[in-house]
Amino acid sequence: MYYLSNYTEAKSVSEASRLLKTIDDSVLIAGGTDVLIKLRNLDKKYSNKHLIGINTLNELKNITIDDEFIHIGSLCTFDDIENNEIIKNNLTNLKMAAALVGGPQIRNMATIGGNICNGATSADSASSLFALDAILVIFNEDKQKEIAISDFYLSAGVVKLEKGDILTSIKIPKKSYEGYASKYIKFAQRNAMDIATIGVSVMLKSSDEKIIDLKLAYGVAAPTPIRAKESEKLAKGLELTKENIEKIANNVLNETKARDSWRASKDFRNNLLTTLTKRAIYELIGKDYEN
Ligand SMILES: Cc1cc2nc3c(=O)[nH]c(=O)nc-3n(C[C@H](O)[C@H](O)[C@H](O)COP(=O)(O)OP(=O)(O)OC[C@H]3O[C@@H](n4cnc5c(N)ncnc54)[C@H](O)[C@@H]3O)c2cc1C
Repeated sequence: MYYLSNYTEAKSVSEASRLLKTIDDSVLIAGGTDVLIKLRNLDKKYSNKHLIGINTLNELKNITIDDEFIHIGSLCTFDDIENNEIIKNNLTNLKMAAALVGGPQIRNMATIGGNICNGATSADSASSLFALDAILVIFNEDKQKEIAISDFYLSAGVVKLEKGDILTSIKIPKKSYEGYASKYIKFAQRNAMDIATIGVSVMLKSSDEKIIDLKLAYGVAAPTPIRAKESEKLAKGLELTKENIEKIANNVLNETKARDSWRASKDFRNNLLTTLTKRAIYELIGKDYEN
């Protein structure tokens, strides 16, 4: 049973922003896969909310590329992302993450914007967007601002969105993806329709068996998605030997803060963090990984 007190469909981004600012207790709804679950569960934060719908705003559904960036509209669904040629040819880790969200019905409705804006550390798209140094384009009334994804997540479930803010697109800088091989590995208790126990996004630029640059991003390794920047620094210039890969993966635990939860223990999560980091690096260099 859904208790919808009111719903207004916005005709433009600026109208949606204005409605959010002028209607008390209003909340933006995109694909609705998170918002409607909260309403159905009678989450107090959501009961009696006035929903402002943006799902018909086609200008937020494009994926384009130019000399500097790939632009992903915030209303692109995971289905759109998984099947888009620009994404397939350039952002393997994001394509892999999109393909692992929920089941087909969810991927057809759930948007990348909603995935980020709900603030969950388990959001499958988030770790790849961290690895890709994504920039979020946010509109409010007539102004536009940009914020690095690393500054957007404030704490568990809390993101830097002010009243009237609407995420319109996500920009991926060319220098952050060109020349990298990338991969996303999700570990969940079930193969489908399950939230990540740990999500690992790894990007590697290498030459002559040496690491030029390694980017390591994680979901559910801390209250927010994170990058393991010290381990990335440690990796620079190292040869891709078994010992060095082991050293990098072990160092990741100095930067993560995995927790015990009903889904998995902290020890198990830590084991996944090192194991999946190693596995991702091995797979990116075309070698089999044996634990
Ligand atoms: C059965 C099921 C399985 C799921 N499996 C997964 C999974 O495997 N992996 C995963 O990551 N998630 C999963 N989810 C969670 C959910 O589907 C995603 O988080 C989804 O991407 C949310 O997008 P949405 O468009 O439906 O968001 P909505 O529900 O519309 O919105 C979510 C939140 O973001 C805000 N918001 C939405 N769009 C914007 C915007 N453009 N600007 C500002 N704020 C905005 C809303 O106000 C709301 O607070 C699952 C959910 C269900 C119900």
